[in-house]
Amino acid sequence: MKRTLESLDPAGIEGRRALVRVDFNTPIKDGAVTDNTRIRAALPTITYLRDRGARVVLLSHLGRPKGGPDPKYSMRPVVRELERLLGAPVVFLADPTSDEAVTATRRLPRGGVALGENTRFYPGEEKNDPALAERFAALGDFYVNDAFGSAHRAHASTEAVARLLKPAVSGFLMQQELRYLGDALHEPKRPFVAVLGGAKISGKIDLIEALLPKTDAILLGGAMACTFFRAMGLETGTSLVEEDRVGMARDLMAKAGAKLVLPSGAVIAQRLEAGAETRAVARDAIPPGWAMYDIDPATERDFAARIGAARTVVWNGPMGVFETPPFDHGTLAVARAMAEATSQGAVTVIGGGDSAAAVAEAGLAGKMTHVSTGGGASLEFLEGKALPGVAALDDA
Ligand code: ADP
Ligand code: MG
Repeated sequence: MKRTLESLDPAGIEGRRALVRVDFNTPIKDGAVTDNTRIRAALPTITYLRDRGARVVLLSHLGRPKGGPDPKYSMRPVVRELERLLGAPVVFLADPTSDEAVTATRRLPRGGVALGENTRFYPGEEKNDPALAERFAALGDFYVNDAFGSAHRAHASTEAVARLLKPAVSGFLMQQELRYLGDALHEPKRPFVAVLGGAKISGKIDLIEALLPKTDAILLGGAMACTFFRAMGLETGTSLVEEDRVGMARDLMAKAGAKLVLPSGAVIAQRLEAGAETRAVARDAIPPGWAMYDIDPATERDFAARIGAARTVVWNGPMGVFETPPFDHGTLAVARAMAEATSQGAVTVIGGGDSAAAVAEAGLAGKMTHVSTGGGASLEFLEGKALPGVAALDDA
């Protein structure tokens, strides 16, 4: 367990500068934030610190600027959105590595808030450069990491800085993520069912391997299923198959036995287009020239029943090309089955960027026990890997 924000003495907060790594990697269009979910997710930590008289200094990355400043990825629009949400001014640190920035943090009033420019404008960020981390550390008197979504990367603002600036504790969002994902993985109420999908088996091999010994069943959909179909010797038409992983799929099937539940049928089309002719066929009846873009209704019913009988469900990866209706049908069926299971007392956890997006789009996010804010981080956590941004924090 890691030391938490709540463990800090009020005297260690009052009047002190809290350097808080947040995940404000939000979508921006025409200079405005179009989805403030991630900003709102950090508000409990920011408000807690402000209420206790801290001077709050926030750092985050935004997008993938190529090793230098790029106005397209500036934090300025986030400053305006944060001001709106807090109803208070936010000081913008245009260069968080400068002496002026340090002075600005010292001039913040108690409860005042500052936000630094994009950490990825500095090449040292992704290199976990200790010299850059030292500049960041000068912005605070203690460190809080609330950026679960960035915790799987050892970067200067997530890892190196946490080793320099002490105490280094977890924020509320970070705690919540670690608790829900950790409990589901390590102390699941059984039956424990994982639902896995997405495009490529190559990106999910470690996840399948890690979940096999822990779960009672793995329900597998998405394009990934087609690589398994090929391993079974079935015709897969023009479906997305990773030829170089067919052997791996065969080995996994042998190892998993009945625990691995593959779709019994597919919704297929000749073109990936809304309005294209579709057919629902058994998995051994995919004709040449057709591709699987979703699980079929019989599989939906099978998966929904298994989800309904589970007491813990973890989901990563959509069941089909959910971006292009009607191929969102299987993904929505899983989302609805999980929402129903939640209302029956099951613990339901969504990890993974695209699955979380699908659940949010269906308006079902509030009906899950937990929807992770970190796609890649939740994936690595579920794979059983240590997250460097978490490991660098103080032990409780
Ligand atoms: P997550 O972000 O939830 O971990 P992934 O990134 O692994 O999920 O996979 C999501 C992608 O997989 C989506 O873009 C979706 O269109 C694609 N996908 C799912 N099923 C299929 C399929 N049958 N054929 C092609 N692409 C698919
Ligand atoms: Mg994804």
